[in-house]
Amino acid sequence: MLLITNANILTPDKIIHNAALCIDGNTIAEIGPIPDLEKKYPSAKRINAKGGLVMPGLTNCHMHFYSTFARGMLLAGTPPTTFTEILEGLWWRLDKVLTADDVFYSALVPLIECVRSGTTCVIDHHASPNFVLGSLNKIKEALSQIPVRASLCYEVSDRDGKDIAAQGIDENTQFIKDHAGNNMLKGLFGLHASFTLSDKTLEQCAQAVNNLKTGIHVHTAEGVADADHCRQNHGCGVVERWRQFNLLGPRAILAHCIHIDHKEMQIIKETGTNVVHNPESNMNNAVGSADILKMLALGINVGLGTDGITSDMFQEAKFAHLKRKHVAHDPRVGFAETTKLLFENNYKILANLFKGTLGTITKGAFADLIILDYQPPTPFNRQNFAGHFLYAMNSNLVATTIVDGKVLMHDREIIGIDVERVMAVSRGLAQKMWGRI
Ligand SMILES: [Zn+2]
Repeated sequence: MLLITNANILTPDKIIHNAALCIDGNTIAEIGPIPDLEKKYPSAKRINAKGGLVMPGLTNCHMHFYSTFARGMLLAGTPPTTFTEILEGLWWRLDKVLTADDVFYSALVPLIECVRSGTTCVIDHHASPNFVLGSLNKIKEALSQIPVRASLCYEVSDRDGKDIAAQGIDENTQFIKDHAGNNMLKGLFGLHASFTLSDKTLEQCAQAVNNLKTGIHVHTAEGVADADHCRQNHGCGVVERWRQFNLLGPRAILAHCIHIDHKEMQIIKETGTNVVHNPESNMNNAVGSADILKMLALGINVGLGTDGITSDMFQEAKFAHLKRKHVAHDPRVGFAETTKLLFENNYKILANLFKGTLGTITKGAFADLIILDYQPPTPFNRQNFAGHFLYAMNSNLVATTIVDGKVLMHDREIIGIDVERVMAVSRGLAQKMWGRI
């Protein structure tokens, strides 16, 4: 039993001020007045929230842990001018030289950052073409040290030849099978993107996805080159191509969906497929802007991710919010859409992966929650929570992070991990990795 006292608690319909919350095992047992719960659970361990806010942990529905070692990396030569050149000049050079140790540490570092920034569930998309088999278990080792809820996949691609593509299929298949009964860690079937996948490989993937009754996690029309390549080589849009291989459905996650047309949006809607928006990455790569407003109006479930550019969902939400206004030249948009992506739609995506209730502070829900050291300077209630969230809160306020009832960080201190040592080892590995590029 764990009792959180002196808290303001964000429930679905109100903020309960100066209250207590009791966690029993991995779920929320009770919310109520402090004296009542103190009396009822006298032997529970205590956490004093010091007047802070208890709210659901944030979630990231498209992440690349392996991007960690790119931070600060200087590449010689002419700066890339297109997204394809960014992939060829940076990411495909980087992922090729990742070793087992690199995969472990480049996952451990952003996992620490997830906990620090209040992210309690991550859907990752991994690539390390010269260390495919066993790569997802290396990330799992990092997750055993920082146990946030997670879904992993390996991105199958033909860009490194048919043997490595086949290994990718095997890696996904094994991992999905091994974690079918695990509610903290799940597999999805990873695919890179249409322009690096042949029909033959897609056919093999489709067969595996169908047998496993799983979903795909794939980059979709991120750059205009992906959409153009698909039309020129396959005579259709990328989403139509996925449908031809029967790869869409409520478990499928399509990251980006920037260069798709109305017909493709209709297909996404009809099949109940999920889209994940990554505004910060899209702006960084100058790939354009997904028409989120139109997709939401059509009833498509659009969630929010970071595409590896950060682990911080407070930051990503700010970008999502401001980008909508900026792109639409309309100050009325962005606000409601961003909170819907993060606080409703991401949890709908996760509901297809994990059993039980996530994303809400209610009795019986999983205790995946954070405590923010937030002292509101203005009136604070359920109706104006989003305004406080988007304009006043940030990840530095996260004091305590709890996942599945387990305290992973308390008063900003990560439990059971020597963070200084992890960062030192990471720097050494990154330096060596840069030398191999
Ligand atoms: Zn991505």
